[in-house]
Amino acid sequence: MDRRIRAIAADAAIQITAVETTGLVERARNIHKTLPLATAALGRTLTITSVMGSQLKADDGSVTVQVRGDGPLGTIVCVSDAEGYVRGYLQNPAADLPLRPDGKLNVGAGVGAGTLSVIKDVGMKDPITGTIALYNGEIAEDVTRYFAESEQIPSACALGVLVNTDQSVRQAGGYLVQLMPGARESDIDRLEQNIAAAGAMTTMLDKGMGLEDIVRAVLDGFDVLFLDEAGIGYRCNCSAAKVERALVSLGEEELAAMAAQDKPTEVTCQFCDRVYSFDSAQLSALLERAKKKEK
Ligand SMILES: [Zn+2]
Repeated sequence: MDRRIRAIAADAAIQITAVETTGLVERARNIHKTLPLATAALGRTLTITSVMGSQLKADDGSVTVQVRGDGPLGTIVCVSDAEGYVRGYLQNPAADLPLRPDGKLNVGAGVGAGTLSVIKDVGMKDPITGTIALYNGEIAEDVTRYFAESEQIPSACALGVLVNTDQSVRQAGGYLVQLMPGARESDIDRLEQNIAAAGAMTTMLDKGMGLEDIVRAVLDGFDVLFLDEAGIGYRCNCSAAKVERALVSLGEEELAAMAAQDKPTEVTCQFCDRVYSFDSAQLSALLERAKKKEK
């Protein structure tokens, strides 16, 4: 159900990626039991992280977006693979604030002041990291700033999550428009007018507009060329083997203490809440692995 489309203006140096993420944001809500404020903040971050993942050149690459604000929601962490499949969590899923005067969820106040970091792992020795100060904590404007300051790419970003009265996700999605070198001033003016006229992402989705309609609205007056489309979703890649490696890396002392307990040690994945349980015998085996490793 969730999908991504990419298009360009064939007569201008503009590219756009648009995604519908209602399903994956609802999945995140179910995993993390988020209240609407957290659903919106996490949903917006998951949405843009998926878009940024799809821009990676390396097939086995990943991108991590970290929003570290001082508001009640706490830190938000989202990771996407190069296909745009995402996972994420935030520190305080039950954080709540009154609605803004305009009736919208106050994501900016929920996030607070702090930083936004983007970490791209594209298979090189060190990942590429860019960090900026948060602009207003609403995520979309912060991402726009990130692209301007850290990657020198003029961009416009719209992200939205609309929540039903029963707190389930009604609509979620977003788009990222970027100017490529050679964009004309007149094209930028037209794009800005289009974006203002198009309105909020969730309003467009809620009106029944598909991603193609939304792209046409944002690129109104340009020669739109659709490039490709793909399915996206919520996907966690945790496994027992990965959790075992993490436990081994804790070291002998820690593992010995866990093995000595008479109850199993439980490790919960932060991204999908899957619980991995290790009994004393399993922990002793991991302790042996840690001993070999440390020699
Ligand atoms: Zn997991």
